[in-house]
Amino acid sequence: MDRFETRRDKLRKLLKAEKVEGLLVSNFNNVTYLTGFTGDDSWLLIGAKEEVLITDFRYVTQLEEECPGLRLLVRKQGMTMPEATGEVSSAAKIGKLGFESGTLTVAGHGHLVEKLPKIELVSTSGLVEQLREIKDADEIATLREAVLVAERGFAVLRASLRPEQSEQQIAFQLEHQLRLFGASGCSFTPIIAAGPRAALPHARAGDFLVGDHDLLLVDWGAQYRLYKSDLTRVLVTGKISPKLERVYGVVLKAQLAAIDFIKPGVTGEEVDAVARKVISEAGFGKNFGHGLGHGIGLDIHEMPRLGVNQKKPLKVGMVVTVEPGIYLPGWGGVRIEDDILVTKNGHEVLSSTPKSFAEMVVS
Ligand code: ZN
Ligand code: ZN
Repeated sequence: MDRFETRRDKLRKLLKAEKVEGLLVSNFNNVTYLTGFTGDDSWLLIGAKEEVLITDFRYVTQLEEECPGLRLLVRKQGMTMPEATGEVSSAAKIGKLGFESGTLTVAGHGHLVEKLPKIELVSTSGLVEQLREIKDADEIATLREAVLVAERGFAVLRASLRPEQSEQQIAFQLEHQLRLFGASGCSFTPIIAAGPRAALPHARAGDFLVGDHDLLLVDWGAQYRLYKSDLTRVLVTGKISPKLERVYGVVLKAQLAAIDFIKPGVTGEEVDAVARKVISEAGFGKNFGHGLGHGIGLDIHEMPRLGVNQKKPLKVGMVVTVEPGIYLPGWGGVRIEDDILVTKNGHEVLSSTPKSFAEMVVS
């Protein structure tokens, strides 16, 4: 059994518990996870024994290469996805078909109801996502590469940083470096924020110049074979202010304490609380307004989450970010983010870009 068959097998057990006879997988990353197919515009119908990928002419050659042996329904011109779904579901004698409520649009659902009059459609959520929470050996190896490529690109960027560069130019240069090191692109549009702009947790790179500000926040990641890394560092680009050094110290202390706490069995809420306590005790509680972290994988944000009300225990094989921050409007912000694998004995930090305050100072 290859890894995709193993994943589909696990999914079938979940379908049984949901009391559906099949699942229509319309989320492209879920289709990729279950089949290895890296294209889009294709749905996977998975039944008790069979699975059929509903696709069209454009992907046939790619599918033969990527998923040999997988049964295909190649839609004829003019045949819609819902019509094809109806054909496959009837052939598989499915009476109760689950659909992914997080992906299917209201209009898409309407078309399915129309084309599958004899089939009961059941709303499901997070079934494949639940499997994706725990990475297998191949995924972990790929994520390690995604982190390594991101770190190599950042090291070059850092070494070549000049005061006259704008946030936008840095974002462009970073992506260029990531691609040279083997990434298929950025995991997401990099956040490059100089000075006060760093107070915006999701700032967009603009035309602010590095040389005009004391700090530069860089939140970036590389996509490697579809898997996404996610890291943040704050570089000291001007005079070292005592305030920056203090805020940085608090965030780093919070991050290290939270990472240290990670092991199988602890909940996302508990890990979040460890970091939040450090930041609150330093007087910055209200300046840390987001969750501590999130899972990474085929999506940049996936399950599990580290944050308030996250009661599910962490398990071996999960990979999460730990990214506390302090944001002070008008002044700037500090966030430090690394990618952590939950292991049998605790955890392993996958990223190794330096992060002590002294090492953040660029001359
Ligand atoms: Zn990030
Ligand atoms: Zn993140």
